Amino acid sequence: ILVQIANRLRNLLRDTDIVARLGGDEFAICCQDIGELDDLAAIAGKLVRGLDDVISFNGTTFSTSCSLGIALSDDDLEQSEVYIKATDLAMYEAKRAGGNTFAVHSRVLSERFERRMQLERGLVRAVAENRLSVAYQPIVDLRDGSVHAVEALARWNDPELGIVSPGEFIPIAESTGLINTVALAIFQKAFEGLHNLTKVPGFERTRVALNLSVRQLTNPALLPAINSLLNEAGIRAGQVEFEVTEGFFEGDEKTIIEQVWKLKELGARISVDDFGTGYSSLSRLKNYPIDAFKIDRSFVMGIDYKDAERRLCAAIIELGHALDIDVIGEGVESSDQLKILQSSGCGFAQGYLLSKPTEVSSLIESGLIDIARAMQVERIH
Ligand code: C2E
Ligand code: CA
Ligand code: CA
Repeated sequence: ILVQIANRLRNLLRDTDIVARLGGDEFAICCQDIGELDDLAAIAGKLVRGLDDVISFNGTTFSTSCSLGIALSDDDLEQSEVYIKATDLAMYEAKRAGGNTFAVHSRVLSERFERRMQLERGLVRAVAENRLSVAYQPIVDLRDGSVHAVEALARWNDPELGIVSPGEFIPIAESTGLINTVALAIFQKAFEGLHNLTKVPGFERTRVALNLSVRQLTNPALLPAINSLLNEAGIRAGQVEFEVTEGFFEGDEKTIIEQVWKLKELGARISVDDFGTGYSSLSRLKNYPIDAFKIDRSFVMGIDYKDAERRLCAAIIELGHALDIDVIGEGVESSDQLKILQSSGCGFAQGYLLSKPTEVSSLIESGLIDIARAMQVERIH
């Protein structure tokens, strides 16, 4: 197959171009005397189309595709290694875009790469120096304003990099495998937080909701680690709710189902985060022991002015009722949204309107959440 691909590349290029195989399934092409980037892009497009075709070998047909990265040598790229790294970066960009395409190296791309490297190194340091912290956001029971659970959200304030949002560092932790260490550090802090919170009258029955990524769920060391953290902190698994996103249906499903069931058997609750944004089918959902759906913020956002969103939320709530699953509305920012959720039968809500993610001490200070008062507030950002 590699030989056939090499031949195809040669046929698609000029005699003066150089084609080489770098290793594995990676090829490098050097085109000299190219005047304009547009000319290169045209060649790249031709190559991508040329490789997006089946190859026959020993009576079997294989479909192939490629991701292609381009760098121009007048990009100030003097040494060949720097130059190859630049094409590599662009190639990853092409892969990220879904493959079967090409991307051009640019300053923006290399700045993004630099930032990523900085964050990776910084995160390793932050974990080693125990500098990650946790913010807690209440998930409120709409019947009485009691705090059903507090969601533990990772926070990183770095002395050099400043505040880095979890939206930026969690994906990095996931792709580098650091997530297991990061998450355990977060869990440990979250258990301490819960321990302090549940000593306070009114919060005795509050749980902690922890985010679990797919990567963690496929890690066999997860259960033993959670068990020992629970023991250390004196927390029962019944006080914990694990939030998993629908994305988890796309991983190594057998292992994931097993792990989720083990968490359930420990006594923890399981909720599906960002419900409605993934591709889970109902037939797959029923393989999991699910206690709650969290309606994604993107649906709740339009609930007070978009008919489609309102009906969608109502349908999710209905589905929850039919399956005996709790429903939590996420990202509630306005009293109208809260009113609609409540009148549609949604049992729980979370969002800036009720409380922003904060420290345990502030939660204790504010006590029960006054639903009636929240209903009076217009909108919070
Ligand atoms: P998520 O699990 O969907 O968490 C909810 C996010 O929405 C949080 O963002 C929260 O601060 C934000 N939020 C809550 N209420 C409102 C609202 O009313 N309006 C708006 N605009 N936003 C609201 P945050 O803390 O930046 O976390 C982002 C994501 O990072 C989380 O999304 C979660 O997927 C991930 N994450 C955070 N901590 C952890 C962690 O410890 N482990 C893992 N695996 N993922 C985490
Ligand atoms: Ca969550
Ligand atoms: Ca969510």
